[in-house]
Amino acid sequence: MSQPCVNIGMVGHVDHGKTTLVSALSGVWTDTHSEEMKRGISIRLGYADTTFRKCPNCPEPQCYTVSDRCEGCGEPSEELRTVSFVDAPGHETLMATMLSGAAIMDGAILVIAANEPCPQPQTKEHLMAINIIGIKNLVIVQNKIDLVSREQLIEHYHQIKKFVKGTVAENAPIVPISAQQNTNIDALIQAMEEMIPTPVHKQDKPAHMLIARSFDINKPGTAIANISGGVIGGTLTEGVLHPGDELEICPGIKIESEGTTRWKPVRTKITRIVAGKENVKEATPGGLLAVGTSLDPTLTKSDSLTGQVAGIPGTLPPTHESFALDLQLLDRVVGVTDEEKIGPIKTSEPLMLNVGTATTVGTVTSARKDIAEVKLKRPVCAEIGSTVAISRRVGSRWRLIGVGVIKG
Ligand code: GDP
Ligand code: MG
Repeated sequence: MSQPCVNIGMVGHVDHGKTTLVSALSGVWTDTHSEEMKRGISIRLGYADTTFRKCPNCPEPQCYTVSDRCEGCGEPSEELRTVSFVDAPGHETLMATMLSGAAIMDGAILVIAANEPCPQPQTKEHLMAINIIGIKNLVIVQNKIDLVSREQLIEHYHQIKKFVKGTVAENAPIVPISAQQNTNIDALIQAMEEMIPTPVHKQDKPAHMLIARSFDINKPGTAIANISGGVIGGTLTEGVLHPGDELEICPGIKIESEGTTRWKPVRTKITRIVAGKENVKEATPGGLLAVGTSLDPTLTKSDSLTGQVAGIPGTLPPTHESFALDLQLLDRVVGVTDEEKIGPIKTSEPLMLNVGTATTVGTVTSARKDIAEVKLKRPVCAEIGSTVAISRRVGSRWRLIGVGVIKG
C-alpha cells in the first residue's frame, strides 16, 4: 500500500453507520477499545487506511473499487490514491474527541441515516464543527437505505437538502448507500475522488506533526530488553520525517516542583515510521502516520500525548499558557433539541477550547464583545492565527458556541 496522502473524516450522529462505513471501505473495524465493544459506540478517534482503485474498462461509477480486481469484469484494477479515514465518535458527550479529529481532516463524509428524521442533534453539531474548523470538501452519505422505502428515501433527501441550505454542505453531493450491505460504495468512492482532492502540502518546511493518538504498544509483562519505545499517531501538516530524525514534542511533560508547574518539551529520536501499513523511509504530509520513538512508553500510553505537536527541534510553534482570542460566536446552541440563544462570554467563566488536536479548558480573564483573554489549564502549542473551537458548559455538557482566532 502506498503512503496515504489525504485524511477523510467520518462525522455524524451516533449509530448512523460511520464505523460500519469505514469498515466497508477499508476492511478495518476501528472500534477496538474494550469499552467501545461493550457499549457498541466509538469513544476514541478511529483510523484506517485504504487504497481507492479504478477499473480501466468499466464505466463510472462501477469502475471504482477498493479491491485489486474489478467487481464487474474481474480485470485487475489500477491504483488511484491511498487515503486515511479518521472515524469520529458521534455521541454528544464526545464532542471534544470529534473536534480533535476534525483538526486533521482535509475533507469529510457526513453520514446521515435514512431511517431517522434529519437532522439529528449531532448531525447538526458536527456540521457546525466542520464549518467552524473550515473543512470545505464534503460528501453527504444517506446511509441505511436498505431499511427504508423509495418514498421515505426521497423524503429524507429533501430533509437533508433543507437542512444543509446556507451551510458549507449546501452543494455537497448526497450519495445513498448501505454501508452494511455494501451498496453503492463505488459511487461514494467516485464522489470522494471528485470532492475531496489531495491537499498540496509544503514539504520544504520543517516537519510539524499534530498528535491525535499516543500508545504504549507493549504487552503487559514484556521483558525490559524487548520493550518498544512510545508510539505517537497523527498527521504531518508540513515537512517530512525520517527514521533517525531527532524529534521535539511540545508542550511536553508537566513538571511540578516547589509549588510551581511548568511544561518541558520532550526530545526523542524516531526509531521507525509506519504509513499505509508499511515501514517507510520518509513520511510525507497528508495521511495518518504512526511514529515509533525512543521515549519511555509510560509517557505515551493511553493517548497521554494527544493534542501535542511534534517536529524538528527548535522549529515548533510557540507554547501558550494564555492567549487572547478574536471571537465569532454562534447565534444559538446547536446539538440539543432546545436551542437557546448564546449570550456573551463572561469574565471567569470556563471554556473548553480545541486548538489543533488539543483540548484544554481556559478560564476567561477578560472579555469584551469581540475579544476574550483566557488562561489555560493545560498549555497548547499553536501558531498565532490558529483557529480555536470554543465550547461552553450548558447544563451538564460542553456545547460548541463559536470560534476564535489566536491573536498575536
Ligand atoms: P456509528 O456510531 O456512526 O459509528 O455507527 P456504527 O457503524 O457503529 O453502526 C451503528 C449500527 O447501525 C450498527 O448496528 C450497524 O450494524 C448498523 N448499520 C450501519 N450501517 C448500516 C446499513 O447500511 N444498514 C443497516 N441496516 N444497518 C446499518
Ligand atoms: Mg462509530
